[in-house]
Amino acid sequence: MTSTLFIDGAWTSAVEGGTREIHCPADGALVAVVDEASEADTIAAIAAARRAFDSGVWSSTPAAQRGDFLLRVAARLRERKEEFARAESLDTGKRIVESRIDMDDIAACFDYFGKLAAENAGRIVDAGDANVLSRIEYEPVGVCALITPWNYPLLQAAWKIAPALAAGNSFVLKPAELTPHTAMLMMDVLDELGLPAGVANLVLGSGATAGDPLSTHEDVDMISFTGGLVTGRLLAANAAATVKKVALELGGKNPNVIFADADFDAAVDNALNAAFVHSGQVCSAGARLIVEESIAERFVDELVRRAEGIRLGGPFDDSADSGPLISKEHREKVDAYVQAGVAEGARLRTGGRAPEGDLADGFYYLPTVLDQVERGMSVVRDEAFGPVVTVETFTTEDEAVETANDTIYGLAGAVWTQDAGRTQRIARRLRHGTIWINDFHPYLPQAEWGGFKQSGFGRELGPTGLAEYQEAKHIYQNLAPAVTGWFPEH
Ligand code: NAP
Repeated sequence: MTSTLFIDGAWTSAVEGGTREIHCPADGALVAVVDEASEADTIAAIAAARRAFDSGVWSSTPAAQRGDFLLRVAARLRERKEEFARAESLDTGKRIVESRIDMDDIAACFDYFGKLAAENAGRIVDAGDANVLSRIEYEPVGVCALITPWNYPLLQAAWKIAPALAAGNSFVLKPAELTPHTAMLMMDVLDELGLPAGVANLVLGSGATAGDPLSTHEDVDMISFTGGLVTGRLLAANAAATVKKVALELGGKNPNVIFADADFDAAVDNALNAAFVHSGQVCSAGARLIVEESIAERFVDELVRRAEGIRLGGPFDDSADSGPLISKEHREKVDAYVQAGVAEGARLRTGGRAPEGDLADGFYYLPTVLDQVERGMSVVRDEAFGPVVTVETFTTEDEAVETANDTIYGLAGAVWTQDAGRTQRIARRLRHGTIWINDFHPYLPQAEWGGFKQSGFGRELGPTGLAEYQEAKHIYQNLAPAVTGWFPEH
């Protein structure tokens, strides 16, 4: 094993000697052994980020130069795409074709923030006084803790690394313990292209231990977290003690609303994608299908037929349509969630178990459809983060909207109809951060991404995704200083 933590510009081993085995979820094969950081490693990484930030080595580099650096990162990621995609697939078990798409999206994200970096240098404020020069400058926040999940490991990290660097911050990245490899490769690229030591730091290890100082240490100025609701609440509470800036991208329970006049085949096909892409381990998965009563039976029959046709397989199996879940524990959680739904009265139309036969060494779970559900059931309310879709029905537009908004989450949602007026009415009424009309899942680096309600706060991507990593500073200059006379001389 080589040293796998990246702190202050050097690869290093965990001070307490901890290690962790990484296994491929598709077959359980050992991928590698990596360092398992303790709190001391993370505190060292925070100190390195603090020194780098305070020295100005990156924070004072002109924004245009920082932008150029990000463009070079994008180019290098494209050159090393296959190496990155392979590493992502081995850690997550996802199909290599999907990892390649992720790598294209990651390069596009670096391109976007590279071009945006110098676009907004600040603004002059009209102070209403000819003797005053007032301006707003955007400065980096400081030391950022970037904490990311295992479903799209490098993509979620890129949405944070690219704007954090564009704005001039230093950071400590802690990826999910199960999926460290593309984060390591990313550090290698940043280092190879000459990012100054200490600006980018990587700690690997569990959230509870390696992650803990990131939300409690006073030298961290900001936490940008993508992950589950429970962890998000904990980090926000921890961060309150030192009043850190916090951005949270949490879970979703995303409605996919289908009206009877929708293009039937397109709606079924996209409902399949919405629910089962990456085995449903997608924060914006369309896990709540809400279908107009008059077409519901035909729609669900067709969805079940198509779901039963999905072929599961490993990352390098060309005949596979979808891969495994991330771990045995996660599969047990997904299964318990499905069985609870059945116990509460939901009807299992297909799936609801692991496949038999050749795939027994991996953590696969069959695409699962549950209908005859009620809004109060846990399967309708809680995030499964697996290949599970529930079906509810409606008869009026108001009922469709009310059902789709009846969730503590508010990440994304979709509406399918050919009625142009209705598309816009519903898009406005849905309380979710992204609304798709006659589509599901696409996102753009130039468009904001994030949640309403308990799906989080703050935005990634788009101009707001850069602003998250900036502080606005007001600089006010009196061009003709004079005695104010406010306090008379006595
Ligand atoms: P998670 O359990 O909340 O973990 C996310 C990250 O937080 C991991 O790196 C984890 O470390 C770390 N962590 C856990 N406890 C911590 C602590 N006390 N201090 C610091 N870090 C800590 O979530 P997950 O299971 O990995 O990811 C699935 C969730 O992410 C789902 O809810 C999904 O909806 C959400 N998600 C949201 C978006 C979005 O854009 N809104 C995108 C993707 C995923 P370890 O796992 O290594 O312990």
